[in-house]
Amino acid sequence: MTFNDLGLSAEILRAVSEQGYSEPTPIQAQAIPVVLEGRDLLAGAQTGTGKTAGFTLPMLQKLSQAKNAPGRKPRALVLTPTRELAAQVAESVRTYGKYLPLKSTVIFGGVKPGPQIRQLQNGVDIIIATPGRLLDHVQQGNVDLSGVEIFVLDEADRMLDMGFIHDIKKIQQRLPKQRQNLMFSATYSDEIRQLASSLLNNPASVEVARKNTAAETVSQRILPVDKKRKSELLSHLIGSQNWQQVLVFTRTKHGANRLAEYLNKSGLKADAIHGNKSQAARTRALKAFKAGQTRVLVATDIAARGLDIDQLPHVVNFELPNVAEDYVHRIGRTGRAGNEGEAISLVCVDEHKLLRDIERLLKRDLPQEVLEGYEVDPTIKAEPIKNGGGRKQPRRRTGGRPSARKSSGNSRSGNGRRGQGTKATAAPRPGRNRRNAMRQKTAA
Ligand code: AMP
Repeated sequence: MTFNDLGLSAEILRAVSEQGYSEPTPIQAQAIPVVLEGRDLLAGAQTGTGKTAGFTLPMLQKLSQAKNAPGRKPRALVLTPTRELAAQVAESVRTYGKYLPLKSTVIFGGVKPGPQIRQLQNGVDIIIATPGRLLDHVQQGNVDLSGVEIFVLDEADRMLDMGFIHDIKKIQQRLPKQRQNLMFSATYSDEIRQLASSLLNNPASVEVARKNTAAETVSQRILPVDKKRKSELLSHLIGSQNWQQVLVFTRTKHGANRLAEYLNKSGLKADAIHGNKSQAARTRALKAFKAGQTRVLVATDIAARGLDIDQLPHVVNFELPNVAEDYVHRIGRTGRAGNEGEAISLVCVDEHKLLRDIERLLKRDLPQEVLEGYEVDPTIKAEPIKNGGGRKQPRRRTGGRPSARKSSGNSRSGNGRRGQGTKATAAPRPGRNRRNAMRQKTAA
């Protein structure tokens, strides 16, 4: 099958072929006709499958065929969980829509709202946004969502993990009843199914990777090692295998900083990205990594979410994630668009339970290999895992919008009681209660 078989317009095909893509990926081949038909869609696909073009291409086509809504209200809204993903989707919309007379803008927090307000006032066809900042604009009357014809919820599972469910519901209320809805999620949980049934109307279902299964092109290995020797082992791996580009995950922001510092001191050019870094610093770090100026990018889950780095060959879990689904997301950074990739996890005695959770989710054991010289010391006993804020299992993280997560009634978010007695709407807005926001910052 080629892109020409999918019923896309000449302007879109031209932009696609300029990217050097000749064949649609499986998610594109399945999703594009469904979206063009006007149906709602539930797609099980993780980053790396080509899902962004899967919704962007038919969305652009539909918008360019239909007439503009009066007053140039936005006609399509794409919600993403993180700023990085919003920026990347916006970039795709610009790239694929370069020969179409459609205007788009990206809206996320962590930057001044002024320029965003001006863009919105000038009128745009497509908004790509993270929920928190968009809701601020909606509530301040800067944007009217009543003309949205296509609503896309990207990485819905991560949206829920980040406690955005409340914001999504509020945004949903501002949308017209008659619209097309597309929802993408890498993993399925009961909450995702619930959200899908409340959002989607008789959706077509498309799935490219098996449920909760890591990309099959990724080879996965566990290297057991003592906690205090992990940094040394990592720099040994990078050096001895001559890896030129490796993405490394840590659980905490401080851990990411510390590790990047260690690697730099060992002569391996490294940078860290996490929720405490400004958007500009994160963008700079990503750019340097993509350009090959930085060899190692150390990231927390949130900061790395949705990063689009072509042909990333190596991902290392310096620490296993607290949440097994995050493992699937993390290793989704490698083995992209059919390329082979390798995911290595450095696992110490404290993390055995986390490893069991991951293996249960994957429904298989991961191969373990003890490296000579890095054998574990059997006298070391497991200790409770410390996460940034000293909590045992934080489900809320940084990188998005602290108070949004605080306001979540999401039962998957760390404090199981939150959804039961807390008045979600009473949660403070960012900047309106600094102390609360700061408290939230301690989560990884
Ligand atoms: P995504 O899953 O949307 O993040 O896309 C993953 C990567 O696949 C991106 O870097 C795209 O540039 C690339 N990609 C998207 N569509 C295709 C295609 N049809 N052929 C080859 N690469 C693609």
